[in-house]
Amino acid sequence: MKQVPLFIDLHAGRPTARDIARLVKAGGLDALPDAVRRGDDATYQEIQCRSALNRVHGMPFKWTLNPYRGCTHGCHYCFARRYQSQLELDAGDHFASVILVKANIVGQLARELDRPSWAREQVALGTATDPYQPIEGTCRLSRGCLEQLARAATPVGVVTKGPLVVRDRDLLQELSARAQCRVYISVPSVDEDAWRRLEPGTAHPRQRLRAVRELVDAGIDAGVLMAPLVPGITTQPSKIERTLEAIADSGARSVGAMVMHLDAGTRDHFMAFLSREYPELSARYEHLYAAKYAPRDYVGRVQEVVGFLKARHGLPLTVRPGSDAGGAPR
Ligand code: SF4
Repeated sequence: MKQVPLFIDLHAGRPTARDIARLVKAGGLDALPDAVRRGDDATYQEIQCRSALNRVHGMPFKWTLNPYRGCTHGCHYCFARRYQSQLELDAGDHFASVILVKANIVGQLARELDRPSWAREQVALGTATDPYQPIEGTCRLSRGCLEQLARAATPVGVVTKGPLVVRDRDLLQELSARAQCRVYISVPSVDEDAWRRLEPGTAHPRQRLRAVRELVDAGIDAGVLMAPLVPGITTQPSKIERTLEAIADSGARSVGAMVMHLDAGTRDHFMAFLSREYPELSARYEHLYAAKYAPRDYVGRVQEVVGFLKARHGLPLTVRPGSDAGGAPR
């Protein structure tokens, strides 16, 4: 499959993520050598990755794969915000407006999959950023990665909020036939007000559910993650029920739900967002999120409501893919 040329001379030496951290520390964003500002107001910088696959432990998958760093979807609860601070970028605005593009990831992945030691263990695409954020429409790196994974008959789980994933249904079908393939589309809530405020750069939730329908109709194992459920904003039973109703209509093969957690790095950003958008909730959040996770009994009560309403709408049992497009381990 022909790749659309990227923005920058492919033969120029690209910086690594470590170089980026050093450059930003020394000179701020102006020091990025090839940053390109696009119409979406985000700045894109190509980098070269030293490895494509990252080994993980304690998850249902063994490897993660992320063609981008940063995400223009800009969900305020995103736990991946903290990864930006490792690059001397801030976990607030820079997370959604400075995107690092791993321009060599497809070739690098091909080399890793060709190693005789590759054991075809489960790979999760989209664990620290959305692989189908808008720039993927131009760069096609996620598509290139899927091509390589299909060639190597490697099982894949994809997590996204981007309906663009439907573009790649041919590869997802091939992966389903050759190995195993699951797509999880994150739709925390169909509540319009919550969507606009919490996930400002994402596609409308109903558009995401249409993508689920298209994938299921194409024979792909596609499910929905209501992740994360945000206390006091999307956890009201009526909102949960409306969302589950819409999910049932989409034909989703599975539904998972997780209550938000607040990791260091995301916490400050989210609390500032909350005090701007939902000031009436700030004090309760200080109490509820005294630690990273909401108290177990609170989470249990929300899960009970979800379970009850899922049964009412004839939805399948909860999945726990261990990754999500928003706030759960990723
Ligand atoms: S939750 Fe997912 S879609 Fe939203 S900003 Fe984070 S990586 Fe992007």
